[in-house]
Amino acid sequence: MVLFQISEPGETQVQRQHHLAVGIDLGTTNSLVATVRDGRAETMINAQGDHHCPSVVRYFADKPPVVGQEAKDAAYQDPLNTVASAKRLLGRGVADIETTANKLPYEFSKSESGTPLIRTVAGDISPVTVSADILKTLMQQAEADLGGELDGVVITVPAYFDDAQRQATKDAARLAGLKVLRLLNEPTAAAVAYGLDSGSEGVHVVYDFGGGTFDVSILRFSRGVFEVMATAGDSALGGDDVDRVVAEWIMSEASLGDDIEHSQLRRVIGEANRAKEALTTADVVPLSVEGVNGSQWLGALTRAAFERLIEPLIQRTLRPCRRALRDAGLSAADIQDVVMVGGSTRIPRVRECVGEFFGREPMIDIDPDKVVAVGAAIQADILVGNKPGDEMLLLDVIPLSLGLETMGGLVEKLVPRNTTIPVVRAQEFTTFKDGQTAMSIHVLQGERELVADCRSLARFELRGIPPMNAGAARIRVTFQVDADGLLSVSAQELTSGVESSIEIKPSYGLTEGEVEKMLSDSLLYAEDDVKKRRLHEQLVDSARLIEAVEAALGMDGEGMLTKQECVSIKAALQSLKDVQQQGEDIAAIKAAHDKLERTTSDFAARRMDVHINEALSGKLLDQIID
Ligand code: ADP
Ligand code: MG
Repeated sequence: MVLFQISEPGETQVQRQHHLAVGIDLGTTNSLVATVRDGRAETMINAQGDHHCPSVVRYFADKPPVVGQEAKDAAYQDPLNTVASAKRLLGRGVADIETTANKLPYEFSKSESGTPLIRTVAGDISPVTVSADILKTLMQQAEADLGGELDGVVITVPAYFDDAQRQATKDAARLAGLKVLRLLNEPTAAAVAYGLDSGSEGVHVVYDFGGGTFDVSILRFSRGVFEVMATAGDSALGGDDVDRVVAEWIMSEASLGDDIEHSQLRRVIGEANRAKEALTTADVVPLSVEGVNGSQWLGALTRAAFERLIEPLIQRTLRPCRRALRDAGLSAADIQDVVMVGGSTRIPRVRECVGEFFGREPMIDIDPDKVVAVGAAIQADILVGNKPGDEMLLLDVIPLSLGLETMGGLVEKLVPRNTTIPVVRAQEFTTFKDGQTAMSIHVLQGERELVADCRSLARFELRGIPPMNAGAARIRVTFQVDADGLLSVSAQELTSGVESSIEIKPSYGLTEGEVEKMLSDSLLYAEDDVKKRRLHEQLVDSARLIEAVEAALGMDGEGMLTKQECVSIKAALQSLKDVQQQGEDIAAIKAAHDKLERTTSDFAARRMDVHINEALSGKLLDQIID
């Protein structure tokens, strides 16, 4: 993460118009918007007077979605159509979120590009759309307040967000009609809010304990430049877990078994959340929940007892802190400032433990849940051109290494993590077999050695390599990461002298049409290849559908279907199997595929209802996500 001071001579004299710009903290739990007014950055309030907008959207069949507190309040009445924590799904593929998705009370389907869609009464909604709906709400709020259209926004993202997740965030902004000046890492925004970029040189820690995630970043500021030395965290540790341990304690005190009704469980969690927040200032809070047989259980939680309950959670945040220090090759004594970010750092015991760990008082002057939005607003104000003579270009580093698959399922890293962006890196590879005319290029992200342990970003083939002896071809693969952290990869065969390269972006979020266009733009891709690829994809999709339907019939066919329904499903299944077996006619396979999907959609919905009810009948607190 780098901060460059760039000012053009003479520009400072020019009187410029004031542009409207805001910073947006698009959070997992809460989102905020902030702006610079009269030289001061501050978060803006909505019509209800709230700074925070819960990142929750409720969808309806016949009217526009509702965003924020109203949606959050309705979440437990209408869980299937009320989407929370969409940030966890943003830019992820279906396979990435399998474990997360099992815990979410939504029904999922899959988009053409393999991203998850949430089934609601308003249709299949992608996480990008949910984020866009939140952004739109914040945009309208800001425009009403500032009295005009926004000229640009800065949106913050976690430092560990990968390329696809960043791209998805930008797509959401585009969908909302926002002009993104740039994406900014959340810890950098917090450091900017505290003005650490105008202070002395040193190393700073940003400790961010939010609603559902914990992140720690180590930033070094030197010679006018911020650099991320290390990031670490726990994506399944946040204020929700604090609520959960308190709720579990209440349940055991009130002798409630873990078989209580879902709605009651939500009330207990709500009570736990209220108690937790009250204990920031109070020493003891009274508690009241519906006990066994409808009786009322009354109790109290003291701050000391609360601190004992959550001690293990706080200790869990210190592990990533140790890891980050180790990665950066530093000890706690090297740290100059510790910046507190996220609502959960309001807990006094958290501040104490973090203070002890780093051996200095953490910075808490700016509200920890507003500090990221404030920093983003400061950056937006500069980037939109409101501060002549003080134009800074914030550069970041990439959070995870980027590389390629090589023989034996190993990863060759081209751009190591924490490399400052923008960056271009190239490396030469060669062919493995005599006469090899094509090479498959698999782009990966992650720190591990094995392909299986890294995240797959994209795959493509370089074709048309002139036949040569093994090892004679020279294939140069170039990775380019732009200032927003977005990657493009190209490959070129050098010895033939023929300009032969293909460029792609990781395929997340691109429509089929866009992907087609990229492919057809390439000289190397014959039309034939595109067809073959599409046929192959269709075959894979259909094979999956066949497998899923057969499994569903085996499991629930008897109990949930009438004879007639069973007959139609089996017929549709057989027709798909038949065309699939011939494996040639893509249109026929697609038609049979769609028919089978239509024929089984009621069955799928019924199964989902039954299984959700089973899952939500209060068995596991873990399975309930706010
Ligand atoms: P995110 O960055 O994940 O969107 P925030 O930084 O807004 O989230 O933090 C939200 C979390 O902070 C919630 O779990 C909320 O209960 C918690 N929180 C807010 N105020 C307090 C408080 N006074 N004491 C403890 N936790 C709090
Ligand atoms: Mg946050």
